[in-house]
Amino acid sequence: MRHSIVSLLLNAATGHRRWPRMWRDPEPRPHYEAIVVGGGGHGLATAYYLAKAHGVRDVAVLEKGWIGGGNVGRNTTIIRSNYLLPGNVSFYEASLRHWEGLERELNFNAMVSQRGVLNLYHSDAQRDAIVRRGNAMRLHGVDAELLDAHEVRRIAPFLAMDDARFPIRGGLLQPRGGTVRHDAVAWGYARAADRLGVDVIQQCELLGFEIERGRVVGVRTSRGRIGARRIGLACAGHSSQVAALAGLTLPIETHVLQAFVSEGVKPLIPGVITFGAGHFYVSQSDKGGLVFGGDLDGYNSYAQRGNLPTVEDVCESGVAMIPAMSRLRLLRSWGGRMDMTMDGSPIIDRTPIEGLYLNAGWCYGGFKATPASGWCFAHLLATGESHALARAYRLDRFATGHLIDEKGQGAHPNRQ
Ligand SMILES: Cc1cc2nc3c(=O)[nH]c(=O)nc-3n(C[C@H](O)[C@H](O)[C@H](O)COP(=O)(O)OP(=O)(O)OC[C@H]3O[C@@H](n4cnc5c(N)ncnc54)[C@H](O)[C@@H]3O)c2cc1C
Repeated sequence: MRHSIVSLLLNAATGHRRWPRMWRDPEPRPHYEAIVVGGGGHGLATAYYLAKAHGVRDVAVLEKGWIGGGNVGRNTTIIRSNYLLPGNVSFYEASLRHWEGLERELNFNAMVSQRGVLNLYHSDAQRDAIVRRGNAMRLHGVDAELLDAHEVRRIAPFLAMDDARFPIRGGLLQPRGGTVRHDAVAWGYARAADRLGVDVIQQCELLGFEIERGRVVGVRTSRGRIGARRIGLACAGHSSQVAALAGLTLPIETHVLQAFVSEGVKPLIPGVITFGAGHFYVSQSDKGGLVFGGDLDGYNSYAQRGNLPTVEDVCESGVAMIPAMSRLRLLRSWGGRMDMTMDGSPIIDRTPIEGLYLNAGWCYGGFKATPASGWCFAHLLATGESHALARAYRLDRFATGHLIDEKGQGAHPNRQ
């Protein structure tokens, strides 16, 4: 059933008992043309674009849990394309353009809300860096506006502008950035892929690969063997574990990142605001809760919960930026598993095993990338060639030194 004002009214009048299932619950078949492992945003988007853009419909998405149970349903929902480096800026801008038409394309309300993303700066050096970033964005056709302290105060009068320690001097605004309801993205892609014939198979864990003479020919799963000669891995925080089943060691570490939601209050935060004097970002949900986050917990883990010192650290930054936050109660928090690469940029590439492809390393910024990642990974799976937008996201770049290090902080294993 298509979602429309007519279907909404009809179902409202009949007690919402007639909505059909959003997607089927198929049994795995013995063979598919292509398999995508991981039913998060990236895996589902890949399957959808394989069917939609490349006509490859004999596809299964294997998800060990349930759709939306991973990071796609655990993130702080921010979308933006305010990147600096050539490999990143066009990719994330392409993703933002996908977001702008996504709800219409999927016929699903994902609550795409382009309320703006404002990065604050607190010093002359930060202003110079932000001006450079803004100029790079504008050269790539991305919207960017430099705001002075007066303009920031007008947009967000609740900020601690004149804090003696971290006075706010201005900010870089990307008006087209914003938020999207995270789990609706998984549901929207799953529903649209299912309609095109893709089997979305939940409770189906990948347990091993069948590899013959250097080529993948199938997988072993908790629901039996499934054959396929094209297999794409989109397992986010589990990428290294899953790749290890094929004998591959990835340049990725898994870390915990927490997210927090406060009690609901009246509209306060106009868009997304990030602190420049600490790692802290905040937006306000339609229900009124402030949704915020900060640093990783800082140790390797596959747990989906974090620890109290990070809660304290994140709240400290929040209160330094918005003193009124000290009056709010924290309602809930949770954690997600981040697939961290050394340069903070992702990998969309072939692996040394023929027919096995990798989509991973999204760190804590992969939600905004979901549409472009699915688009490029589907291209790679369908054609065997990297999409022009994702050519920089090579698996071997840590050996060759072609890093895409936005913050200039990553390790340089190629120099050792
Ligand atoms: C707290 C937090 C805040 C974040 N905030 C933002 C943000 O504001 N903006 C942003 O852009 N990004 C953000 N991110 C990052 C973003 O959520 C991730 O980078 C992105 O969601 C990862 O891709 P995914 O959706 O495909 O992952 P997931 O949803 O995690 O999908 C991977 C799937 O693979 C499945 N899987 C794993 N192993 C197997 C197996 N063996 N067999 C079958 N299935 C398997 C998992 O169950 C999982 O469902 C945040 C992340 C967290 C945790």
